[in-house]
Amino acid sequence: MSDVIRLLPESIANQIAAGEVVPAPAYIVKELLENSIDAGASEVQVEILGAGREAVQVTDNGKGMSPTDARMAFERHATSKLREIEDLDRLSTMGFRGEALAAIASVCQVELRTRIAELEVGTELRIEGARVKSSVPVACPVGTTLRAMNIFYNTPGRRKHIEARKESTELGDIWKEFAKVALANPEVSFALRGTGKYDKSLPASSLKERIIGIGGSKLSKALIPVNYESSFCSIRGFIGTPTTALKSGAQQYFFVNNRFIRHPYFHKAVMLAYEKFIPVGTQPHYFLYFTIPAENIDVNIHPQKTDVRFLDGETIFQVIVSLLREAFSSHALAPTIDFDQ
Ligand code: ADP
Ligand code: MG
Repeated sequence: MSDVIRLLPESIANQIAAGEVVPAPAYIVKELLENSIDAGASEVQVEILGAGREAVQVTDNGKGMSPTDARMAFERHATSKLREIEDLDRLSTMGFRGEALAAIASVCQVELRTRIAELEVGTELRIEGARVKSSVPVACPVGTTLRAMNIFYNTPGRRKHIEARKESTELGDIWKEFAKVALANPEVSFALRGTGKYDKSLPASSLKERIIGIGGSKLSKALIPVNYESSFCSIRGFIGTPTTALKSGAQQYFFVNNRFIRHPYFHKAVMLAYEKFIPVGTQPHYFLYFTIPAENIDVNIHPQKTDVRFLDGETIFQVIVSLLREAFSSHALAPTIDFDQ
């Protein structure tokens, strides 16, 4: 009897893992946007070609990468954001797993241009099959442009699967990821191009202006501000007036420490607060931002990092219900002039 178990070559293991990190173009958009935010960018542009299947390109004016870091960035588990396991409890960055660029490079052809302020010239890298094909000095501004092309070009099965999807679905998904990052960072200016009806230019602005920029001008008279402060958590943001609740398409966002999260349990709290104010079967708009000490949450439970565990979830549930109810009653009493510009 012969032994049959083999360790997978790293390149194949990476390709398999990549399918989880970047299963579709929208996830590339998400990961690249998060890297730009982590790099301290104040301006970020996204360009999409062929609904993201031909190319996703993100340009930022963040801190850039040194020539060596530019190569290192594409290694699996290579990150500048986490050094020891204890760091997991105090992270303020969007990334930390060091997986995104390795994943993108194993399923896309990649071009990277990047420069740090200390150097006069930047670096241009071309990567294919997760291997650096060329690395040359290049004149470019401080910051980073990363272009991910032809997603799944090297795995025909997955490529077919992507091509079978409607382009409009893909673009809608790209828009959703763009919207989440733009809503989480109103002080950063963003542009989205190559998406047809989703194209957007968003100058740096107040939170309210950003919400209207993403949610549409119909929200401008429909937002009630909320604010809560305590030692364990703060909540701020805006909720839609009850009359603007919708049967479908309501804009509902939770952010924790500037990261979009899904939270079915807190969603229930919002619905409970609205219960008597909106018709059954409708959904309110909400944009709620939690700030909470990093050690009181765990974001490490899912690769997409959209599921966050709170240490004190029940208390926060109650806080949401009473905060929103208060906001409705003070809004109902307030004059109709728009004070909170
Ligand atoms: P993570 O974000 O989890 O650290 P990534 O694979 O997304 O892992 O990125 C790897 C590293 O590459 C980052 O830790 C960062 O140092 C560097 N990097 C990636 N994108 C950028 C960027 N736009 N600007 C500057 N550095 C970047
Ligand atoms: Mg990252």
